[in-house]
Amino acid sequence: MDELMNVLLLGAALYITWTLFQIRQLEHWLQSHKVSHIPDASGIWGNIFDHLSRHKKREISEKKRLKKVIMRVETMTAALNDAIVLLDEEYTITWLNKASRNLLDLKKNDVGHPIHNFIRNPLFLEYLEADNHDIPLVLPTSNHVEQRLEFRLNHFGENEGLLIVRDITRLYRLEQMRKDFVANVSHELRTPLTVIMGYIETLDDTQPLDACWQKPLQQIHQQATRMTTLINDLTALSKLETESTSQTSQTIPLKPLLQMICDATETISDQHSIELECGESFALIGHERELHSAFSNLIINAINYSRQQKVVRVNVSLNFTGGLDIKVIDKGIGIEQQHIRRLTERFYRVDSSRSLETGGTGLGLAITKHVLVRHNGRLHIRSRINQGSTFTAIFPKERVKMLNTD
Ligand code: ADP
Repeated sequence: MDELMNVLLLGAALYITWTLFQIRQLEHWLQSHKVSHIPDASGIWGNIFDHLSRHKKREISEKKRLKKVIMRVETMTAALNDAIVLLDEEYTITWLNKASRNLLDLKKNDVGHPIHNFIRNPLFLEYLEADNHDIPLVLPTSNHVEQRLEFRLNHFGENEGLLIVRDITRLYRLEQMRKDFVANVSHELRTPLTVIMGYIETLDDTQPLDACWQKPLQQIHQQATRMTTLINDLTALSKLETESTSQTSQTIPLKPLLQMICDATETISDQHSIELECGESFALIGHERELHSAFSNLIINAINYSRQQKVVRVNVSLNFTGGLDIKVIDKGIGIEQQHIRRLTERFYRVDSSRSLETGGTGLGLAITKHVLVRHNGRLHIRSRINQGSTFTAIFPKERVKMLNTD
């Protein structure tokens, strides 16, 4: 019995020693990182080493594959001329590509720091913190006076940001040239046109004039007047494009402004009446001259494109965001859906013969849109053919002021 016990104990001791030896081999192998030097073993330990070795090989090849993908993405983003910066929700830089170093003067070790520590223009922080990033931000750089960069922030993942920065200096210069050209042409045309108008008026006053000259003279007068309106609108538009928006804004009580426009418009067309619904306390922070022209264009259009339907409504109300909606509602000819998107383009007309009839230049809504954008607002258009249109000028909360009218 004792003998059997001794044999069993010896067997158990040998088995434990063998197992400890295999465990030690396993530890050595795992530490060595050499997948190919798989320890020799038989039985269960042989199977364990095989499984682990296969697992390790798979892991290594997956790592290699991922490394290759990362290298490829890095080479691709390094080849881009646009700067790409990844930001976390606090606007801290988490990654940047090579172009960020040239365009934004960022370095690899700027990762981990907030981006607004490096781009110090206050407009940039304002743009980052805005709710809407649909319209990109254009900023000059401190390096070159003429250089312009366009910043566009896109969101992804959990509140992460992908900031793409493009050098748009060339485009900006071309745009500047176009604006200057329009402004100069409008200005240069004004003088000869004033002279022509002067002569027409003198001839008009010259009595008696041959009957055969009366009709041509009347047409010359009409066309010269049209050209004057066109030049006035072009000049207004190019001023809106070239003047900076940083002029001092005023608080403009809305009711008196709209009342003045409605009264003036009613005198042009005595067949129409305009109903104004506007609380006394509503005011906007902005530029009176610009807002006057934007609202006038909407109200005059409502009258011009409302054949028999003689009542136009102007309604002012707060919207659910705390912003202000100024609606100009007519029951006129309406606009087909496919035109609505393009109405604010320069010289876009739904029906040019009708527009010529009303004396329209095709620039009115372009001016209105520009004014609204300069006031951080936008234009919303809803229309049904033969049922009428509603043009809504929408201003954000920051532009609205409620006056104490007690
Ligand atoms: P225009 O000087 O020709 O009126 P606008 O820029 O003011 O130019 O308007 C562009 C076009 O939009 C107009 O030609 C007209 O076809 C259309 N439009 C503008 N307002 C209205 C409206 N209230 N009802 C119907 N069509 C309109």
